[in-house]
Amino acid sequence: MKLHGKLAFITGGGRGIGSAIAFAFAREGADVAVAARTEEQVRTVAIAIHNECGVQAIPVVCDVAQPDSVSAAFARVVTEAGRGPDILVNNAGIAISAAFLKTDDELWQRHLSTNLSSTFYCSRAALPAMLERGWGRVINVASIAGKTGGPYIAAYSASKHGVLGLTRSLALEVATKGVTVNAICPGYVDTEMTARGVENITARTGKSADESLEILKRLSPQRRLVTSEEVAAVALLLASEEGRGITGQAINVDGGTVMY
Ligand code: NAP
Repeated sequence: MKLHGKLAFITGGGRGIGSAIAFAFAREGADVAVAARTEEQVRTVAIAIHNECGVQAIPVVCDVAQPDSVSAAFARVVTEAGRGPDILVNNAGIAISAAFLKTDDELWQRHLSTNLSSTFYCSRAALPAMLERGWGRVINVASIAGKTGGPYIAAYSASKHGVLGLTRSLALEVATKGVTVNAICPGYVDTEMTARGVENITARTGKSADESLEILKRLSPQRRLVTSEEVAAVALLLASEEGRGITGQAINVDGGTVMY
């Protein structure tokens, strides 16, 4: 029970990678708050976690792109759990591809607010309790698109590059305070986000769904998608006591696609 007695706040916990991280942490004894906009999804995940692991699992409806919504979500968790989170996973995100000249202000701002500003808002809300305790973990789910560019993903890639800048700077600021700050950079993961990417390729190219999926798989030297559980396993290491020496890092989980 590596996380017994800890409380983790996981954004985007209603499905995909966030849900897998919430389950992985709860299986190691953590209480969890699972936050996203879709109430039914956060409720379903929280109930399943409580039933399987017996830990406290708090469903939180929150739009991480809105600072007031983030403040209200953290206040609710403090009220329900009696304390602020020990572990924050900034995982909520969107990825909508568009040609650069078809990326309008709204799409640009939506990526920055959902993927980058959210990480700032949630970290700002979580940090005081961590500093007071002298123990904390901030884990940002970025992307290999935070390290390298790609066509049709300028807004997404820019937002994820920003997440890595925030990660590295905050890690240095709190390095002596018992708080680590790291990022995980997945390649293509087998989630709804990737399923939408496959639909997009199919719609644009006329290829079959299998052929479109194959294009994404072939971007990885391992010729496969990563699973949410593989990302969750790295998050667990970063959250655990054994991970205390790792900070300011951006760890790729991508089958070798990016090697820096
Ligand atoms: P997903 O299945 O689409 O899940 C995204 C989660 O984020 C959902 O729970 C969603 O819930 C939540 N979310 C989105 N906008 C939100 C908002 N404004 N406020 C609160 N929650 C919000 O995607 P995923 O694949 O698990 O992605 C999770 C993270 O991994 C993202 O940051 C993504 O960029 C990153 N990532 C994914 C891949 C991949 O291939 N899938 C690769 C690299 C990095 P609601 O819509 O209900 O709010």
